Amino acid sequence: MLVGYPNNPKHSLEKEIAWALSNDFDYMELYLEEGKTNPASINFERIKALLSEFPLVGSGHIPWYLPIGSPLPEIRNAAFTAAERYFKVFEAVGISRVAVHAHWCGSFQVRDMIFFQVETLNKIAASASSFGIKLMLELTDRKEDSPENIKNILAQTEGVGFLLDSGHANLWGRKPGDYVDILSSYLEHVHLHDNFRDSDLHLPITCGNIDWEQFLKVLKKRYDKTFTLEIFSKSRDYLLLSRDKLKKYWEKA
Ligand SMILES: [Zn+2]
Repeated sequence: MLVGYPNNPKHSLEKEIAWALSNDFDYMELYLEEGKTNPASINFERIKALLSEFPLVGSGHIPWYLPIGSPLPEIRNAAFTAAERYFKVFEAVGISRVAVHAHWCGSFQVRDMIFFQVETLNKIAASASSFGIKLMLELTDRKEDSPENIKNILAQTEGVGFLLDSGHANLWGRKPGDYVDILSSYLEHVHLHDNFRDSDLHLPITCGNIDWEQFLKVLKKRYDKTFTLEIFSKSRDYLLLSRDKLKKYWEKA
């Protein structure tokens, strides 16, 4: 198991990487957004050199608000153009796996919302591949993010993997383990955080009601790669504590 740290894109990227390095994380998940991690503000050589100090170069994340499922083709095209701007950075710093969020727009029929996303994802994935990048689709916190709907999208796209997010998978009466059986053949990466099944709180591990023992047992039968801790707390002690707990649960699973 390799455990990664996701930088807060509102903070200085170099400081975030330095913190992850000094706390022995295995890799960084590079969150690029507008503002402090805007592609134009990244010093490629410096960031590439810093990332090479980790055991694993790591993964990337394009903005979670990219409207890949917009009903308007012009907006979907704009999402594609924006994604390419980020891929250039990831390629330059040596990152070859990048996350994109699913995007369910408004109150359209599910089959239409799937169609919009499939069309954009196929374009984005082909572009990502030309940069040497594998695209990974992450389920979000929407009701439509069922294992069946995500599988339906992935089955219609070329070269897109699945990113299982434990907190997002713990909403709408579903459990993270529900996604493992159905989507294990696509599984490329995992995000971990906790909640109480009613909202996306990004809590430390064991501070919500995910059954971690059960979930990690199911997951370990199918997967043993990268785990990014998406614990959004001002006190980073909770992140380090979550890593300790995760490793103990994983050993026992
Ligand atoms: Zn996530």
